[in-house]
Amino acid sequence: MINQKLYEIGTEPSVIRALFAYGLEKAKEIGGENVYDYSLGNPSIPAPEKVNETIRCLTESVDSLSLHGYSMAAGFESVRKTVADILSRRFSFPIRGRDLFFTCGAAPALISVIKALAAEASSEIIAIAPYFSEYKYFVENNGAAFKVVPPDVEAFQVNYEALSAAIGEHTQAVIVNSPNNPSGVVYTEQTLRKIGAILKEKEEQYGHPVYIIADEPYRELVYGEVTVPFIPAIYENTVVCYSYSKSLSLPGERIGYVYIPQNCADSEVLMAAVSGAARIMGHVCPPSLFQRVVEECADEKPDLKAYEENRNLLYNSLTEMGYECAKPDGAFYLFVKAPNGDDRAFSEKAKLDYNLLVVPGAEFGCPGFLRLAYCVSNDMIRRSLPAFEKILKDYSEEG
Ligand code: PLP
Repeated sequence: MINQKLYEIGTEPSVIRALFAYGLEKAKEIGGENVYDYSLGNPSIPAPEKVNETIRCLTESVDSLSLHGYSMAAGFESVRKTVADILSRRFSFPIRGRDLFFTCGAAPALISVIKALAAEASSEIIAIAPYFSEYKYFVENNGAAFKVVPPDVEAFQVNYEALSAAIGEHTQAVIVNSPNNPSGVVYTEQTLRKIGAILKEKEEQYGHPVYIIADEPYRELVYGEVTVPFIPAIYENTVVCYSYSKSLSLPGERIGYVYIPQNCADSEVLMAAVSGAARIMGHVCPPSLFQRVVEECADEKPDLKAYEENRNLLYNSLTEMGYECAKPDGAFYLFVKAPNGDDRAFSEKAKLDYNLLVVPGAEFGCPGFLRLAYCVSNDMIRRSLPAFEKILKDYSEEG
């Protein structure tokens, strides 16, 4: 007999993937230049040149057996130490190699932490809408209940009253994702301090830690003068899940880590439980070659010029047409208000009438909005603008 629940998850169509697949099929029919695909968050800038140089150098200079062999479960000691030193310098915060547990990207990092915190059947993990849609699957299938805090649809910061009301005695953690997928918004230091104050109050009320799980694959993708506050310096009980998928444009190479600060509550026990979770998922010893690459390239900065130009072009063009959108300072997403409030209808119409693929906000717990992943060519954005304009005109003519 096959596990029915997993069968359903495996066959349930993901709206994002379905849109992407539609785009590929349509491109065969009408030509790729006539499809405007904003569905997928796949980086569109190449990995920094140093990444490829490092791969070449490693494959030429390190013997194959040791290069491709297993590492320790949490990663090579030298890699953990090098990355910890870089992070310590960057954030002026004491970080040791043993505080890092390398993983196959942010998704297994998140799942390991969620599993480790799902202590009882009643355990709850909270996400703040709009949220990355996979969280629901990660939480519900790893021993905890998934609770959602409704969004602040004006600035896409946080609805504090709703957050406070959502936290109960069984709440283990709140997932904080900034820069945010899907809104592109960066939480301000003030927002994070308010979240921290609410969590602290709840910890005192319920007598146990309420962790922040900081999901940070977009940490380096910020534009202009904006900075992403370092949450462990604001709230002690923070666990960071990081990935090089977006910052080094390496999503297919599956490399990231869990960082548990030494002053975080029960840090040693939590680290051991994260290790246990990785073990039972078979996700220990993440790719050895890419651990070595990260050891050399963790301080590389992505060239964000192309994303920033895309963000500016799309944001300026759409808002000039009359679309409404909170200005995103990070990641590579724009979260636009659906003109008539019906995100699913807009997405369907855009797809069928104009070959324009945008994801309904309902997928992220925030109906009424549309996610546009602008990790695409600048040229595609330019070519897609008339379609956005025509849809608005259609809606206004329909009244
Ligand atoms: N968290 C967020 C908010 C994401 O957008 C993604 C991927 O798109 C992930 C986690 C998973 O990242 P990874 O590819 O490193 O597993």
